[in-house]
Amino acid sequence: MKKVPEARASAAVRRVAVSRYGVPAVAGVDTRSTKGPPMRAAVANSFPFTAVVGMDELQLALALAAISPAIGGVLIRGEKGTAKSTAVRALTEILPPVDVVPGCRFSCDPGRPDPTCPDGPHTGDGEPRAARLVELPVGATEDRVLGSLHLEKALAEGITAYEPGLLAAAHRGLLYVDEVNLLHDHLVDVLLDAAAMGRATVERDGVSVTHPARFVLVGTMNPEEGELRPQLLDRFGLTVDVVASRDPAVRVEVMRARLGYEADPDAFVARYDGPQRELAERIVKARDLLTEVILTDAALRQIAEICASFDVDGMRADLVTARTAVAHAAWSGRTVVEVEDVRAAAKLALPHRRRRNPFDAPGLDQDQLEEAINNSTPPEDPDDDPTPGGPDGSGGGDAPAESPETDESAASTPSSPDGEDAVPGPAPSGNVAGSSEPYKARLLSVQTAGAGVAGRRSRALTEVGRVVGERGPGRA
Ligand SMILES: [Zn+2]
Repeated sequence: MKKVPEARASAAVRRVAVSRYGVPAVAGVDTRSTKGPPMRAAVANSFPFTAVVGMDELQLALALAAISPAIGGVLIRGEKGTAKSTAVRALTEILPPVDVVPGCRFSCDPGRPDPTCPDGPHTGDGEPRAARLVELPVGATEDRVLGSLHLEKALAEGITAYEPGLLAAAHRGLLYVDEVNLLHDHLVDVLLDAAAMGRATVERDGVSVTHPARFVLVGTMNPEEGELRPQLLDRFGLTVDVVASRDPAVRVEVMRARLGYEADPDAFVARYDGPQRELAERIVKARDLLTEVILTDAALRQIAEICASFDVDGMRADLVTARTAVAHAAWSGRTVVEVEDVRAAAKLALPHRRRRNPFDAPGLDQDQLEEAINNSTPPEDPDDDPTPGGPDGSGGGDAPAESPETDESAASTPSSPDGEDAVPGPAPSGNVAGSSEPYKARLLSVQTAGAGVAGRRSRALTEVGRVVGERGPGRA
């Protein structure tokens, strides 16, 4: 409880500290909060994460976000029918359990309970609870998301009842928004606030409740149904573009898995018991290893060079790439970040941050990434002379290398079908700078401009001549 300006309200708040357990039920307050919002915690027989076929990059991104929540979540873009949601929902089963304070509706960590927890103060031991995936419906009310304060009770009976919302339930877990691009604007603002502060705050009539809300945000969307607001897009650490494989062999595997699961879920899930457990253990190990991973100066420099070459906005891309590279090294069982970690991280962290032209393909150009890596200083040999130039030795030192776009346009010119009347339309040469943000025109006015007669134009101070538009003496 914070910021209680009125004496009446503060009395109410004092009461709630005493009455945090049980009393809301006595006071006739809806007790749904004890049951909690809908969430998934190891639903029996749901489709196993490791049985998802042909989505390696998606699985890797989710695993990395689970290993290092600081990466900031995953946005999954893809056409419908690609089982994006299935993969996300299956993730909870391989996540390690979370240690919580028993009875705390805000999932306090028993090691360091939140001193401002509405259910606190806490003492005593924690207990493990299954990892949670809380789904946020796109049409949810703000009360549902933030929680609701029942102030009528406060005024009438001196009791404040706060019913935690989805953000409280998602604390230390995953918050999943399907069709995140269709999320209502007011909820986007709520999400952005929570993500920025790591807390959720509900305020009503001078009474406010605040609690920690740190979660891994996972969103899925079909880009055909609209794009995401840039501020929200930026909040996602990683993005993955999912497309159904065009390889018949992979499609066969997808069908085989799905049909096998539908025919006998029990047997199917049992078959993946081993892989599931292996993956869960791998994530736990990687989490333990995370703090030991060394990000050398050279690796940092390589990340900076790659991000700069992709012309990203701001510094968030660099930070996310660095965190992801560290998580990838831990995931691979290593304690030093290597070039393959940087490559994997850049592939996931940069696609939605680079400036792009409207007709650019989604995702990251693989060739451009390889070129950026080749041109950057490799982390393995930190004392090597930072001279660009790949193993082929053709790198021209400091000379600005020809951009691939230039090569392409040059190569495509002779291949035009009709060389004669085809207007040699100058192919847009490389990077076209995007327009800047539109802004409102401002009226600039000067007070007391002069002493002349008010005319259609500005007044003038001089005594000779005539103000433009002013009637001269010679004219009637
Ligand atoms: Zn607590």
